[in-house]
Amino acid sequence: MLPGELEKWLVELGEPKYRAQQVFSWLHKQGADDVAQMTNLPQRLKKIIAPHLQFGTVEAAHTSKDGSEKLLIRWADGALVETVILPQNKRLTICLSTQVGCAMGCGFCATGQSGFTRQLSAGEIAEQVRLAERKAGRSATNLVFMGMGEPLANYENTIHSIRILNHPQGRNIGMRQITISTCGLVPQIRHLGQLRLQLVLAVSLHAATDSLRSRLMPINDKYPLTELIPACREYAAITGRRVTLEYALIEGVNDGKGDFAALVQLLRGWPCHLNLIQLNPVEGISYRPASIQKLRTFAQQLSAQNIAVSVRASMGRDVAAACGQLRGRRERHEHHGKA
Ligand code: SF4
Repeated sequence: MLPGELEKWLVELGEPKYRAQQVFSWLHKQGADDVAQMTNLPQRLKKIIAPHLQFGTVEAAHTSKDGSEKLLIRWADGALVETVILPQNKRLTICLSTQVGCAMGCGFCATGQSGFTRQLSAGEIAEQVRLAERKAGRSATNLVFMGMGEPLANYENTIHSIRILNHPQGRNIGMRQITISTCGLVPQIRHLGQLRLQLVLAVSLHAATDSLRSRLMPINDKYPLTELIPACREYAAITGRRVTLEYALIEGVNDGKGDFAALVQLLRGWPCHLNLIQLNPVEGISYRPASIQKLRTFAQQLSAQNIAVSVRASMGRDVAAACGQLRGRRERHEHHGKA
C-alpha cells in the first residue's frame, strides 16, 4: 500500500492519520521485517498490522565472478522468482521479477519455456528490493524491471510497486533511475506514455523484420513492428525520453547484412538508443551468442549510420544469469526429488 491507502485503512480502524507514514517508512525506508522492530508504534497497532505483513525468503544466492549476485526468492505459497543484484562502483542496480514464470514464450528465454504460473503483487515486487538491499548491505540506486515475467502483462501491480519504490517517504528511487523492459505490448506502452512518469522504457527488439521477430518472439504476431515502433515513437514524443531498444545478437540468426539494413530503417530519425547485447545461452535452446568482435563491428557500423548504440557486456553468465535458469534448475531438482 501507498501511504494514502495505508492512511485510509488505518483511519477506518480508528488510528490517527500520522501512523500511516510511520508504518510505510518502517517497511519501505528502514526495511523492517517484523513489527517488533517498529519501536514507535503502540502494541495495539502492531497486533493489527502483523497478520497483513508478508515477506519473501532468500532460498539461494549465487555470486558471479564479475560481482553480480543472483537471489532465488521463495514466497509463502512456495513460488520462486529470481532477483539480480548488479553492483557497479557507486551504483547498485536491482533487476526485479514481476511474474512467476511468463506467458510470452520468447524462443531464447528460459522463463518463457516454463510457462506462466501467477502474477506477483506490488508488495512482492517491492519486497525483492528490500531483500536485495539487505544482501548487498547498501541501498539500491537503480531498478530494472527485467527479471522473470513481462512487467506490462502485470501492469497495475508493476506501476503500483514503482509508485511505492519511488515514494519520498520510502526508498525514494527516482523515476529516471527506473527502467521497464517489455517484449512490446503496444496498448500498455501507449498507456504508460500517457502517465508521463519519466521512466526509461526498454523494448526487446531482437529482430528488425516481422518474419524473424515472430519466429523469435510470438508476441510479434499480435503487435507487429508496424504497430510497435509507432508506439515507441509516441512514448518518446510524449515523455521527452529516448526509448531503449534491446537487441541480442544471435549467431547466424539476426546478425547479417539484411538485418543490419532493416535495423537502420527502423531506428533512423527518432530518439532511440540501441543496446547490443550478447545473448545468454540457455540449456536446451540452440541459439548461440554472436562473438563480442561481431557485436563491436555491428555497433561501429550502426554508429556510422548515426544510430545511438552501445555494447553491453552481459553480467553474471557463470551463475546462470539469464532469467529463469536458476529457478528452472531448482524446480527440476525438486520435481525429481518428489518423484
Ligand atoms: S524474454 Fe521476457 S517476455 Fe520473453 S518469455 Fe522471457 S521473461 Fe517473458
